[in-house]
Amino acid sequence: MRFDELPTPCYVVDEALLEKNLKILSGVMERTGAKIILAQKAFSMTAMYPLIGEYLAGTTASGLYEARLGHEEMGKENHVFAPAYREDEIDEIISICDHIIFNSFSQLERFKDKALQAGKKVGLRINPECSTQDGHEIYDPCSPGSRFGVTSADFHSDLLEGISGLHFHTLCQQNSDDLETTLHAVEEKFGEWLPQMEWINFGGGHHITREDYDIPRLEACIKRMQETYGLEVYIEPGEAVALNAGYMITSVLDLHKNGIDIAILDTSATCHMPDVLEMPYRPPLLGSGEAGEKNYTYRLGGQTCLTGDVIGDYSFDEPLKSGDRLVFGDMAIYSMVKTNTFNGMPLPAIAIQHKDGDCKVVREFGYEEFKVRLA
Ligand SMILES: *Cc1c(COP(=O)(O)O)cnc(C)c1O
Repeated sequence: MRFDELPTPCYVVDEALLEKNLKILSGVMERTGAKIILAQKAFSMTAMYPLIGEYLAGTTASGLYEARLGHEEMGKENHVFAPAYREDEIDEIISICDHIIFNSFSQLERFKDKALQAGKKVGLRINPECSTQDGHEIYDPCSPGSRFGVTSADFHSDLLEGISGLHFHTLCQQNSDDLETTLHAVEEKFGEWLPQMEWINFGGGHHITREDYDIPRLEACIKRMQETYGLEVYIEPGEAVALNAGYMITSVLDLHKNGIDIAILDTSATCHMPDVLEMPYRPPLLGSGEAGEKNYTYRLGGQTCLTGDVIGDYSFDEPLKSGDRLVFGDMAIYSMVKTNTFNGMPLPAIAIQHKDGDCKVVREFGYEEFKVRLA
């Protein structure tokens, strides 16, 4: 079917754009020997896993369910990190993951032997206490009091037996200059222990596929760790894999006025793009301008009862009318994985735009998906 025949609301992932990102990432792997794995929490559209698996080394997970998804749907190298694991899930996690990364020495002591006996790699998340992002405390694992990773003050060098690697994750949508700064902090605080490790994992938050990302500097960081300490390097981006590779198509349902012009859409910020409110950010909308930039400005709002269910103010060359279709950009990452059915909102369909332009709906949802999560 054609793009303009897809039902709304609908997420559409563009195969060609996704593959463009994957080629950039696999270029880094080829030139450096580092392994790049998909952080599934940002993007877990399993219909695309065969394509992603052609380019990347595997998957990483935030816990058991994502680990299962990576194991079942991609079947390549499978890593996991969680702030704490449950006693009743650890055996399954160990059976399906290759790297199990722990957040504390107490978790390590509790589960390390089991993992090692099963022949799995055991790692420890460290906290280099090096904040490189400002004003984004909820996305900064190095913010004061953060629960992520062992700080140098709490590091027990006497408990390192069996640990083959260190993991840090401190970045969010950042460039490689911030990675470089972070690596210096890692070396300053934990450098003494790096020579005895086999691998280091740089976490995610590297915006590698963004236009202005400095890839040579990333590759220099990777090579320095490989050459100085003899380490195998892993990177686990989520965003960078599907950055700008997806859309959300929505229809105008009605027009309303309250001092300003308002358009009600068949989507919702809070249900279908919660990061617009939580992050917050303004999603790109194809063919639109900033408020006041073009002749007709509208506040775009959702169908829920939440007054703040507003995507933003956008302007257009022509007045909007009900039935018009709007296409938001960059809607693959952290949108599809975060949807909910608040107010009984339907979940958007999920479609693929193939390389030849042909579109196919791969999943549609209905009333059952709303009802099944309640009792
Ligand atoms: C969120 C996260 C990632 C992926 O981050 P992106 O910003 O999507 O690249 C990787 N590793 C860990 C431990 C994370 O928490």
